[in-house]
Amino acid sequence: MSGFGLQNLPYGVFSEPNGERRIGVRLWSSVVDLSVLGGHLAAGSLNPLMAAGRHEWTAAREAVDDLVATEPPLIPLRDVTLHLPFEVADYTDFYSSEHHALNVSQILRPEAPGLSPSWKHLPIGYHGRSATVVVSGTPIQRPCGQLAEGVFGPTRRLDVEAEVGFVVGVPGRRIATTDFAEHVFGVVLVNDWSARDIQAWEYRPLGPFLAKSFATSVSPWVTPLDALATVPPLVQDPEPLGYLLPPGPGFDLRLAVEWNDTPVSSPPFASMYWTAAQQLAHLTSNGASVRTGDLFASGTVSGPARDEVGSFLELTRNGAEPVKLADGSLRGFLEDGDRVRISATARSAGGKQIALGSVSGTVVA
Ligand code: MN
Repeated sequence: MSGFGLQNLPYGVFSEPNGERRIGVRLWSSVVDLSVLGGHLAAGSLNPLMAAGRHEWTAAREAVDDLVATEPPLIPLRDVTLHLPFEVADYTDFYSSEHHALNVSQILRPEAPGLSPSWKHLPIGYHGRSATVVVSGTPIQRPCGQLAEGVFGPTRRLDVEAEVGFVVGVPGRRIATTDFAEHVFGVVLVNDWSARDIQAWEYRPLGPFLAKSFATSVSPWVTPLDALATVPPLVQDPEPLGYLLPPGPGFDLRLAVEWNDTPVSSPPFASMYWTAAQQLAHLTSNGASVRTGDLFASGTVSGPARDEVGSFLELTRNGAEPVKLADGSLRGFLEDGDRVRISATARSAGGKQIALGSVSGTVVA
């Protein structure tokens, strides 16, 4: 597997048949068992390491590099089960792609398209449901809900949202954008499964609720922030308020969305309007605290082109323009048995192209 070499080494939690959960890093198509290193790395989840802070993160990284450079205990990926790598505390989802926000407004509110008045003044978000954050590979049961007035049943407009998630290690409140890397441990890929019919009927005036809380999938691998190269963020106009400045780093990730193994989109994360540092600063600006295991996701990543959008709502214009998959079938929204895989490549801090762990899910009735 390309992209999982020495410059990457994402953390995960695995078990062998009848075995306990252990922390490992991915190296090519294998897992390196880190329990031999002891300390925080001998735990059954990443939370103790994540809570320990940047100094410990750097020390762990050096110990892992040393271990991998010798003769590491390798276990083939096919022989292990991968688990949720951290205990999810609170989950917040943002809405920080300008292209996505404009596309959605044009599709769902053609009578009054455009950004809402506050959109360029603060990163809009909502608090989600951490109890239903699941690891990649977990089947996604088609949710039921109110689809319209007087109609309760299985959603007919099941969709995906390709997103990038940031995992908080060190707790805090009123976190300055300049302290972002002291608090955020790493990055996962996220699929924020969404039922568009439930969403359309329920979301006004308080925002997403049951349309999204039934399942959110994350990749089993957490790429440490330090492994990723940073890029300058977009120029923001109007200039944000002082507590959102400086904006903090951008990350040049290129996502890829496959629908039943047919590549349908490649969303560019570098096109996001608000940075993760601004999202965390805003999330805690009122005095709200974040704790170890908090997950905040970017919002659907959509670029300017039709084949760069991060949702099927946008890809198929709300089902009106179906896409053709490799087997010749047409799709507007997800059907039972459909599988979606989101992967990503990035530039590593060392300059090489690396991969993020992918997130997949199959829809069941
Ligand atoms: Mn979302």
